[in-house]
Amino acid sequence: MDAGLQRELEQKVYAGERLSYADGVALYDSDDLAWLGGLAHHVRTKRNGDRVLFNVNRHLNLTNVCTASCAYCSFQRKPGEKDAYTMRIEEAVRLAKVMEPSGITELHIVNGLHPTLPWKYYPKVLAELKAALPNVALKAFTATEIHYFERISKLSANEVLDTLIDAGLESLTGGGAEIFDWEVRQHIVDHQTHWEDWSRIHRLAHSKGLRTPATMLYGHIEHPRHRVDHVLRLRELQDETGGFVVFIPLRFQHDADGDPRNRLMTQPMATGAEVLKTFAVSRLLFDNIDHIKNFWVMHGLTTAALSLSFGADDLDGSVVEYKITHDADGFGTPTTMTREDLLALIRDAGFTPVERDTRYRVLTTYDGPDRARRDVPQPISA
Ligand code: SF4
Repeated sequence: MDAGLQRELEQKVYAGERLSYADGVALYDSDDLAWLGGLAHHVRTKRNGDRVLFNVNRHLNLTNVCTASCAYCSFQRKPGEKDAYTMRIEEAVRLAKVMEPSGITELHIVNGLHPTLPWKYYPKVLAELKAALPNVALKAFTATEIHYFERISKLSANEVLDTLIDAGLESLTGGGAEIFDWEVRQHIVDHQTHWEDWSRIHRLAHSKGLRTPATMLYGHIEHPRHRVDHVLRLRELQDETGGFVVFIPLRFQHDADGDPRNRLMTQPMATGAEVLKTFAVSRLLFDNIDHIKNFWVMHGLTTAALSLSFGADDLDGSVVEYKITHDADGFGTPTTMTREDLLALIRDAGFTPVERDTRYRVLTTYDGPDRARRDVPQPISA
């Protein structure tokens, strides 16, 4: 990038001016990682200070049986396949109850698109989870699943959402977004929910008072311009509804074991530098979203900690088990972190940990960095 353009972009960021598509592409084109990180950290600090949010949650996948075969997904199984499973409602409740003593505040529930489970299963499982764990927020279903429920229930998304909200739904999840540009999407997504329906469903959820996350799966066959386009579509929708609470870039994980379900397995994964660049540019472009989250399971703890200085201000989470893309990961990334692990990671990165709930309300602000820990090198998990 020439010095003139670099100065121009810098001035725009410091003046709080909105960046354009061309600006986003130019930022990705820069190899000056420290410069990008400095800009993103300026924006992040202005908006969120030195706080790093986290929540204590559990991911629950009710079924891995799925009619679709998305190219990046090692989680899906076809009916009758070895290790295909579908939880009975009692089993889901029992599993959730096991986690209760660790103080979870949220259940994050996403599933395959099961070919024969009846629609009534889904509100019923929410209602029973809510009855069993009344203080735990239910963040459930991607827009893809809601779109699928429309088809299997013959109800409108409006009626589907009302039924799920009555049963205890507090937020949708942000998945199913991947990369919206059809040039890429046609090669990686095998279900029928694309930008038009994904945005329609989130818009509707926002109109009902739900605040939802938005994701982007990057580091596979897309180019930086597709990431820019993806964020700008979301930014425009956010201008309209204000209902997105967090943006979550998710690094594609190729399959170390060569699972043929993951048809992108020969793709290399995004490098640490590309990860940090993606977080920084996302923070700079997405000027109307409060939070950028690093789902550490897909980045590893070291990169997750570094991303806190490249625009991220939220870590998910105290995950006990995560499957959808993690099945692909043979790189030793842990699947479990406790509250204490997260506190140490955030403090060691130089930030103040703040525990939040699903709606990003502050629950507890903890002490900030522990200088005494700096005297001795601390072990890292991954
Ligand atoms: S990403 Fe979701 S919809 Fe696609 S194959 Fe996997 S479980 Fe099914």
